[in-house]
Amino acid sequence: MQHRTPLIAGNWKMYKTSSEAMETAAQLIKRVADADTIDIMIAPPYTALESVAAVIKDSCVSLGAQDLFWETEGAYTGQISAEMLVAAGCRYVIIGHSERRQYFGETDETVNKKIKAALRVDLKPVVCVGETEAEREAGQTFSVLDKQVRMGLDKYFIDDLTSLVIAYEPVWAIGTGKTATEEQAQEAHQYIRSLVEELYGNTLSDSIRILYGGSVKPENITGLMARPDIDGALVGGASLDAESFSKIVKFR
Ligand code: PEP
Repeated sequence: MQHRTPLIAGNWKMYKTSSEAMETAAQLIKRVADADTIDIMIAPPYTALESVAAVIKDSCVSLGAQDLFWETEGAYTGQISAEMLVAAGCRYVIIGHSERRQYFGETDETVNKKIKAALRVDLKPVVCVGETEAEREAGQTFSVLDKQVRMGLDKYFIDDLTSLVIAYEPVWAIGTGKTATEEQAQEAHQYIRSLVEELYGNTLSDSIRILYGGSVKPENITGLMARPDIDGALVGGASLDAESFSKIVKFR
């Protein structure tokens, strides 16, 4: 839909040292300098946040982090707070990525606490939801999305959620080369949007951006973006290379 500015976000996962990340970021900002009707975000590893922030300063690319911890500060070895991310230059934070749910014990309850922590400091949360292959095959896609969205977004008032972004990422499509068909993605996005309407009303459901993630590439982005409820993409593998990511950014 025209009134939602598309967001193309790159999740660099545990790839790139600080200097490699700076190099990719520098190549990217040159290639996307003319992409002014779209929001662009890259999420390098924590160790590269400040160095990449310096490279993309004054460009149209924003910085994001891949996770956060909900406390402000304290004896939590290895954790990073929302306040620290803002100080490092972040404007977005990815929350509840399926790799964190799968390998690091992330639950809908921890996702909920992390969203609250991000909103406390005006970081825009990009909250990931999506079903596994077994859940899809068992016909549970909508019930999984229902639970993740209801519990993840529980206890918020509508005003709190205006900056929230949801990323629909079917787990079976992440890093596998299998992309959901445009129909499968649109159907899931439409379901999520209707659920947001039921929970928070149509002002929020009309304005909230719902990204698709799962093996997005320059070859499949245009078809996905043509669907009415797909407002952008969360890109893993193809965001690591400035040329392929900039082609995705310039999908039109
Ligand atoms: C992701 O990590 O969110 C993702 C969608 O990865 P990929 O694009 O590599 O499937």
